[in-house]
Amino acid sequence: MKLVFLGTGVADWFRDTAHLGDASGVNRRCTSLLIDGVLLIDPGPDFLEALETFGCDITNVRWVLISHSHGDHYRADTLSQLADDHPIIVYGDAGYPEKLPAHKNITFIPLSCHTPRACPFGTLTAVPSTHVVEDTSEQCLHFILRRNGKTLFYGPDGAWFRADTWYTLETYRLDCVILDATFGDDPMKTRFRSSHIWFYHNSASMLKIIRQAMYDKKIADDHTVFVADHLARAYYPNIEAANAVFHPMGYVTAYDGMQMEI
Ligand SMILES: [Zn+2]
Ligand SMILES: [Zn+2]
Repeated sequence: MKLVFLGTGVADWFRDTAHLGDASGVNRRCTSLLIDGVLLIDPGPDFLEALETFGCDITNVRWVLISHSHGDHYRADTLSQLADDHPIIVYGDAGYPEKLPAHKNITFIPLSCHTPRACPFGTLTAVPSTHVVEDTSEQCLHFILRRNGKTLFYGPDGAWFRADTWYTLETYRLDCVILDATFGDDPMKTRFRSSHIWFYHNSASMLKIIRQAMYDKKIADDHTVFVADHLARAYYPNIEAANAVFHPMGYVTAYDGMQMEI
């Protein structure tokens, strides 16, 4: 699988310069991931511009996964623009269909959790996240994708894991783990939300524990690539600051335009 990280930030990056996000990590777009040029995870506000900037052909994007409908992961207008170009199939939770644009080129497929689903792009297993979208009845999702003999876990947004999600994860051996790395080691320093700190996004110390737990349960091993994604400007103003935290923990720090073959 070839991964292109189209955006790697949370919502606290400056919107007027987010489109300048690159390897320096001093700007970041909203989090979005492209797999093998054909599968897009999280159609946020910036992915169309990022596709063009990073040399990805919009006409190849046939399938879209939505983890949840927060504005940094999902935008009806950008999804509509993609569908203006050609028909797409969109997968996500059934709890936010009112947010989906009524577009003749969009086919929506609601996902149920824990059951592997054979899709045109591979085998997809949605699992519930601890994250919450307040104004919908949706279940925020993580994704386990099996494609071309490799298995990827996509974790933004969320903190820790629900027990049922962990049980499902224990049945996989992952080649790549992409996790929500929003907070630094002091998540109480800057509060994006007043009461959800430890249960809504991960801190750096939580990522350390999660990585070890995955090793202990043989979900991961020495060949597994761990990626810290969905970074906040308040904690990681540039790539050096992020690498100083994540490299000692065995994580790759994501940045806008980063490409990875797993
Ligand atoms: Zn987010
Ligand atoms: Zn969110």
